[in-house]
Amino acid sequence: MPADASERAYDVVVVGTGSGGKLAAIELARTGRSVLAVEAGRFGGYCPYVACVPAKSMMYSARAGLSWADAVIRRDEATDGGSDAGSATSLTDEGVSVLRGRALLGRPVDGAHQLTARDADGTETHLVAPLVVLATGSSALRPDLPGLDDVPTWTSEQALSAREQPRRLVVLGGGAVGCELAQAFAGLGTEVTVVEVADRLLPGETSWVGELMASVLRDDGVQVLVGASATEARAVDRGAALELMLDDGRSLAADRLLIAGGRAADTEGLGLDAVGVVPTDSGSLAVDARCRVLDESGSPVPGLFAVGDLTEPSSFTHSANYQARIVAAEVDGHGHDADYIAVPRAVYTDPTVFCVGMTQEQADERGIAVRTAAFDVSDVERATLAAAAVPPPGRRTVRGRVELLADAESGVLMGAACVGPEADSWGAELALAVRARLDVQLLTDHIRAFPTWSEAIYPAACTLDGETERRK
Ligand SMILES: Cc1cc2nc3c(=O)[nH]c(=O)nc-3n(C[C@H](O)[C@H](O)[C@H](O)COP(=O)(O)OP(=O)(O)OC[C@H]3O[C@@H](n4cnc5c(N)ncnc54)[C@H](O)[C@@H]3O)c2cc1C
Repeated sequence: MPADASERAYDVVVVGTGSGGKLAAIELARTGRSVLAVEAGRFGGYCPYVACVPAKSMMYSARAGLSWADAVIRRDEATDGGSDAGSATSLTDEGVSVLRGRALLGRPVDGAHQLTARDADGTETHLVAPLVVLATGSSALRPDLPGLDDVPTWTSEQALSAREQPRRLVVLGGGAVGCELAQAFAGLGTEVTVVEVADRLLPGETSWVGELMASVLRDDGVQVLVGASATEARAVDRGAALELMLDDGRSLAADRLLIAGGRAADTEGLGLDAVGVVPTDSGSLAVDARCRVLDESGSPVPGLFAVGDLTEPSSFTHSANYQARIVAAEVDGHGHDADYIAVPRAVYTDPTVFCVGMTQEQADERGIAVRTAAFDVSDVERATLAAAAVPPPGRRTVRGRVELLADAESGVLMGAACVGPEADSWGAELALAVRARLDVQLLTDHIRAFPTWSEAIYPAACTLDGETERRK
């Protein structure tokens, strides 16, 4: 620590104020502890300004048939024009002290964590706290693609802050972010191509989900190339545009290349070595069920917690928020183990994807015998009613499916995949069922409102209930 650095002591220092860090700071302040939240960028992290919120705003605008210019106005309203004043105030209103700066862990002294926060002017503040919550999030991965530095690229953050609309966009990566942004930009009039190296879009989900998504995007005018690998990017028009070369000899012309190939935890420059912590092979931090950071030997580092994208089990705002509550409960003396069995995985395209729990592929990998049963969402009364309404020009009629997956012996629901209108809302019933480890039989003896999309769950559950081995 430099001799002129000021020093401040708190009960808790939270490093990073994205979804997880912000909520952890607030929940911990509510326990009566003195809490300082240090933020290197914007209070509130990525979700409200350059991730979840603007992505959904652009998609809704595209769906509503707005122009690019109007969609940008709506997006800027939804993101407060990028101002974090509201987020900072929501922290201070809860009694959290805030400090702008980049925090670095030092070696603990007498059981207390030591940190240095350096602001943009280089001013350093020395911080001391027995408890530290790390919540530094993640950044977009940049692929090792020859020529990439010479062509116009976007991360999702840049795409969601853009003022100029590209005429032609290639999206590299067909995961949730790639699919959402492809549909948003295509709906706003950009010519979009998605390039995905796996044999289907949304490769983490059971295969029909990605296949249905590809067909939906194609109907929206998106060119979808799966099983395709980019080999080189070449600058065109002195770097104003690009040509993307693919392994099968094809090439794609575009004005922008959107890199949507996943994210990596932000551990760089955090001083983890000072506390004996080494990131896992995937680059994130290993935490136990109470979100305590584990050191190289797998033991919790005293007084050190981590939440959000920085940690192995979380890659969503809702899981980061859940972990924040786990930490607050643990610190406040009524802790319980986190249960990640039912973290929802939603893709907010039209139709929406909502998956939870295990997929068939994961069950096969783990050697777990499961049964699945599916039902077409277009066969429920709600779909008939929705289809009867005159769709706006160019819109398709209802498409979707629900598939349930249960342990073949016990009949316990272990996973569900839902695609359909508002599947993120009606699928939530299944997330709770997976979390509660419900026997699928109960899903057959549950009254659902008529006429809702959730009525598609009943026939799938009946089929599955009849097929589980314990019934024979
Ligand atoms: C395009 C897109 C759309 C998404 N949509 C959704 C969605 O609809 N629903 C959903 O649940 N999830 C969505 N996500 C994922 C979601 O954005 C993340 O899971 C969530 O933001 C993670 O929050 P976090 O707490 O890890 O912190 P982050 O939001 O990653 O913020 C971390 C903060 O830490 C700060 N920081 C980093 N290092 C330091 C340091 N050394 N000192 C001080 N501060 C530091 C950073 O400046 C940053 O503000 C989306 C992601 C993307 C990219």
